[in-house]
Amino acid sequence: MTVRTRFAPSPTGYLHIGGVRTALFNWLFARKHGGQFILRIDDTDQQRNVEAALEPILRGFRWLGLHWDEGAEVGGPHGPYYQSAKLPRYQEAVAQLLAAGCAYWDYATPEEFKAEMEAAEREKRPKIYSRRWMAESPAERARFEAEGRVASVRLKMPREGVCRFFDQVRGEMAVEWANEQDIVIQRSDGSVTYNLANVVDDFDMKITHVIRAEEHLSNTPRQIFMIESLGYPRPHYAHVPFVAEPGSKNKLSKRKIGQYLKNPDFKKVYEHGQAIAERLGLTISPETFNPVLVEFYEQVGFVPDAIVNYLLLLGWSWDGSTEFFTREEMIDKFSLERVNKAAASLDVKKLWAFEEHYFAGLDLNEKVRRVMPFLHRAGLSASEDLVRQVVAEAAHRLIVAGDIFNFDDFFLPDDAIRLEPKAKQKHLDAARDVLPRLRQLLASTEPFEAVRLKSQVEALARELGVKPGALSQTLRVAVTGKDVGFDAYAGLAILGRERCLRRFDRVVVL
Ligand code: GLU
Repeated sequence: MTVRTRFAPSPTGYLHIGGVRTALFNWLFARKHGGQFILRIDDTDQQRNVEAALEPILRGFRWLGLHWDEGAEVGGPHGPYYQSAKLPRYQEAVAQLLAAGCAYWDYATPEEFKAEMEAAEREKRPKIYSRRWMAESPAERARFEAEGRVASVRLKMPREGVCRFFDQVRGEMAVEWANEQDIVIQRSDGSVTYNLANVVDDFDMKITHVIRAEEHLSNTPRQIFMIESLGYPRPHYAHVPFVAEPGSKNKLSKRKIGQYLKNPDFKKVYEHGQAIAERLGLTISPETFNPVLVEFYEQVGFVPDAIVNYLLLLGWSWDGSTEFFTREEMIDKFSLERVNKAAASLDVKKLWAFEEHYFAGLDLNEKVRRVMPFLHRAGLSASEDLVRQVVAEAAHRLIVAGDIFNFDDFFLPDDAIRLEPKAKQKHLDAARDVLPRLRQLLASTEPFEAVRLKSQVEALARELGVKPGALSQTLRVAVTGKDVGFDAYAGLAILGRERCLRRFDRVVVL
């Protein structure tokens, strides 16, 4: 048997981090077993602009390196991979269920059906339809139609016995058929519902393992009923817990970002990202810039492996202590048995720590490759050589590629340095007397290298009876406009004598 798994997103216009986690488990399982991972699209006939709404989802998967073997854009032998293109196929399955007596035409109006359900609720009975407006013969159909009624198609669920299935995360499951509603599979306008389409798609695409979010656990008995009624093989099931919101067990939702921002860690990460997004001129709205969505991490310059590794552990563990896995190790070690039953909360602080680990592990050229597009997009032009020197010196101060903006002073033209008022007050205004000596030091130090600059500053500090740190800060502010950054001497050396003097002369008169 070739393992075939799938992820079936609706084209919503964004890629939710919880969805990625489910997709990741499908991807890993398929890769581990040398099988195929399919990305099919749960769109509907009515949906407009499916392509635009799909774009962020496909881009996100590509960025994360979760490539699919069949499905949207790439095609494959078991298509179409868009539900909107399969209506006749679904209606054929509905006809087969009707012919087998496993479904029926139902002529209840929505009001009549609702009234029945409300009565059941009042009387604390299971909400099971009475089948009062069920039609199974042409004569019955004609009679209801003469009353002007229109029909939908409902499943004729068993009313006794137990539905049993094995869930690879939750174990043996047993559900009383008597509690299962006769759900609609085809609406009165001829369109079909999720459960029917899903069963047909899984069959057509030869899906062997259905690995999906736990909210679909309650759909499984009715899907199994259809699978058996249609004579399809039953796939294996694994229902994985959802990704919960920070600090609670509720499902993570992109709409609740306002609430999450009350969490200090979440707020810190959000603001960190926001500062980068502003430099890039991005629109900052919960729709487009939201730590619940994958786009957020792409925009600020995460290493995709950091997200993938973090999400793997958000619901799966190897030995309870190993944290970092390469892709190969993930594929090798992944199993559904080690997926947790309980939901785990998104912890952005931990996610950031994973990013720190992954970014630090990149070699210098790779860091430069990731940082360059950020500079370009913010309109900063810099030679690769200059960027390499800055990135090397910034070292662990770069956690995401967008952190390069903290060192933008190296890339600004010399006449564009902005002098921060506080830094000016503290390090320039208070040191007016020594500025001529510092300028002289810049002009005369030979060679113009960090070690030499340092010893010259130390000598001057001794002569003036001040701390060398005070002088180096003044120099830093005079050439960068800021009083924070990496080693000041290294910064001076990177800029070189000429640029330092040009900046110095401009800044000290400001
Ligand atoms: N489109 C469904 C969802 O996103 C797919 C459910 C399934 O995997 O069966 O929840």
